[in-house]
Amino acid sequence: MTKEIYTTDELQQICKLNQLSLFGAGDIARSVIKYLANNDIRVKSVFVSNLKDNPPELLGIKVVKISDVPVEIIKEQTLLVCATKLWRNEIEDIIGSYTFKNILWSSESLISDIRYKNADFDVDTINSSWGNSRLIQGETDRILRFVPRPCLEYLIFNILDHCNLRCKGCDHFACIADEKFYSYESVASDIRRMAEIFDGDYIMKIAIMGGEPLLHPELLEILKETRKNFPFATIRLTTNGILLLKQNEEFWRICRENDITIVNTKYPINLNYEAMKKKAGSENVRFQYFKGSGEDVIKHSFKKIINLNGDSNPADSFSRCHISNYGNFVLEGKFYGCPFSAQSFRIFNKKFNRNLRITEEDYLDIYKVNDKNEFFQFAARPKFYCRYCKGLSPMFPWSRSEGKMTEWIEE
Ligand code: SF4
Ligand code: SF4
Repeated sequence: MTKEIYTTDELQQICKLNQLSLFGAGDIARSVIKYLANNDIRVKSVFVSNLKDNPPELLGIKVVKISDVPVEIIKEQTLLVCATKLWRNEIEDIIGSYTFKNILWSSESLISDIRYKNADFDVDTINSSWGNSRLIQGETDRILRFVPRPCLEYLIFNILDHCNLRCKGCDHFACIADEKFYSYESVASDIRRMAEIFDGDYIMKIAIMGGEPLLHPELLEILKETRKNFPFATIRLTTNGILLLKQNEEFWRICRENDITIVNTKYPINLNYEAMKKKAGSENVRFQYFKGSGEDVIKHSFKKIINLNGDSNPADSFSRCHISNYGNFVLEGKFYGCPFSAQSFRIFNKKFNRNLRITEEDYLDIYKVNDKNEFFQFAARPKFYCRYCKGLSPMFPWSRSEGKMTEWIEE
């Protein structure tokens, strides 16, 4: 088996069944060994192509030249390659002559996740910095929200507000949005600017979405521009699929040539999801169902509960939020911490005549801030707007929106 590993959860699952050996003895391998050791998992061996340019050991594990190891021993092993994509061809040539049981490649996303989880943090400092976020030692998921990542894990470029499905309680407010397309010029300019700040890298996954992106007349130009500027990122086109089988040959060609992943959520409506998957396969275009709606899983919804009084503790909300320090959002030259802050103060306020108040603390102007580290810091800090959040409701069966405010507030 040869596959790429994206998350630490996946890595841990593999380690339950196999003892890992690593290929590579640089920073990536060091981070992986440290992370695994923190989780009581010991690496079997560290292999390299030559000993001259590598340390003799890595965190207590001997570094071995791969050609010095008998082929029969290697044959039973699971290898995790710890190197950047730049070395991929060379490494494939070296390890290709051995028959490992499994060959796993560490993706940038995995490495980022590992480095983030290896970071040292101090609960007291976080609590005092953020007006008592009520954190306690050991709540790792909450604490890590405040730790700047070394990259942006997931960045949304919003290309339109509205949608042709209108789900109840849509957390992008597309179900109550007026028709609104953002022009190619505006979106492309933001994409180019983000690539300039981030050197075309440091962003793991980019989602082109809205609203329903297949409604956008300039979608293909936007996809090409995204790939041109971010050659290494996973680029996801997140769609409800209603228009997918109506796309022409050019659509499929652009997706194929630009390595776009179509991410499709399965709704309980009359659509042939199997045909969509098949079509993407026949066009050699990556296709997957949205997280939480796997092969047999039909979409359920949750309510993003808005506190209309705006008196939630921002740091507390931020630390409990499923998307904080993860799902950042770019729209019209501004970088927001989440889709909620970017969309609700316009769409929700307009529809229900409310006054959720956004401040200059809630976004970065991407044309004024030049340093990517400022983005990492910004993503990891609670925003003024977090005072309007009250968490998520339990999941409930999907249905269409009736455009009522109760779809977002406690009843
Ligand atoms: S399909 Fe997606 S964007 Fe459209 S209303 Fe439903 S959740 Fe919102
Ligand atoms: S405003 Fe803060 S708490 Fe609310 S969704 Fe955004 S990041 Fe999460």
